[in-house]
Amino acid sequence: MKIIVNYDILINKKNGLKHDYIPSNLVDVASRYKDNIKLEEETYQQWKALQECVSGKCYVIEVESGYRSYEYQDNILKEIIDEKGEEYAMKAVALPGYSEHQTGLALDYCVMRDNIFITENDIDQCEESIYTNSIAHKYGFIVRYPKGKESITGYKYEPWHLRYVGIDLATYLFVNNKTLDEYYEEAENEKS
Ligand SMILES: [Zn+2]
Repeated sequence: MKIIVNYDILINKKNGLKHDYIPSNLVDVASRYKDNIKLEEETYQQWKALQECVSGKCYVIEVESGYRSYEYQDNILKEIIDEKGEEYAMKAVALPGYSEHQTGLALDYCVMRDNIFITENDIDQCEESIYTNSIAHKYGFIVRYPKGKESITGYKYEPWHLRYVGIDLATYLFVNNKTLDEYYEEAENEKS
């Protein structure tokens, strides 16, 4: 049976997923960063193609985090609240059901240099991530929380978080400097 996946699904602070939503075509991801990562099948195929292209520049990028269940997100949130307080946690971590990672279409990646992993904010100035994020749309990925769009996405800039939406939509968003949220807003406005 062919599984229909809505690659353009909008998940943000207003649009969430049910607690029992689990993507049906998750596959195992090979990553030097860690084991037990899963992604939606096409998302993973396209990630491998992107990774391959980037490796042509002798850059190494690896998946750091892929699919996360509702329960996993719930635990992360509780941990960050304990560590850094509720105010910080609410800005930095998605509520359970409101994380794109639950779709299997989002991934966090890291840069690997001389057997050292560079993660999260530290990848921002890396030539590896600058290059990756400049060509990601050709493989169907968008930088979901770009710099300068914080008030629209509701999230701080995350150069490491890529979301698979398919090549056509990713290219459209990249060329027009739009977020997925803005794309949906425009579609709504056109209807009314
Ligand atoms: Zn992420």
